[in-house]
Amino acid sequence: MAFEMGPETRQVQGMWDISTYRYRMEGGGVRLLTEAMKEKRIKGVRCNECGMVYVPGPTYCRKCFVDIDEVVEVEDRGTVMSYCVELADVRGNPRETPLISAMIELDGADSWFVGAVVGIEPEEASVGMRVKAVWAENPVGSLSDIEYFEVLEE
Ligand SMILES: [Zn+2]
Repeated sequence: MAFEMGPETRQVQGMWDISTYRYRMEGGGVRLLTEAMKEKRIKGVRCNECGMVYVPGPTYCRKCFVDIDEVVEVEDRGTVMSYCVELADVRGNPRETPLISAMIELDGADSWFVGAVVGIEPEEASVGMRVKAVWAENPVGSLSDIEYFEVLEE
């Protein structure tokens, strides 16, 4: 009997261990960013049509679908737009201390940058909180040159 797609989808419960996959980010935007990070700077790309600033910069604007390549520098501080408190690591092992993983809109950018916020309790975290990057002592040109973000008192 031939297999036919039914009108309904089926959900399968299960674990998908993404930590066993290897990822490689490609493209000039990531290279632009990691080169700048060697000097503890953050660079993205701006769209000439709508003005959106992306970090890391894609090769085209996701709103206008035009090629973009205007390099702009943004701040290493920004605003927490969303966050989650991770109680377990990617394999499901409990963490000794919860990790606050945040989506951060860096000042001057419109896209969101992922980073850990360290130095506060999960109950103290909030959307709208101002944070600043804490850089590695000797940056090597890697996304991990920003070790974490700390809360900024302004
Ligand atoms: Zn655009």
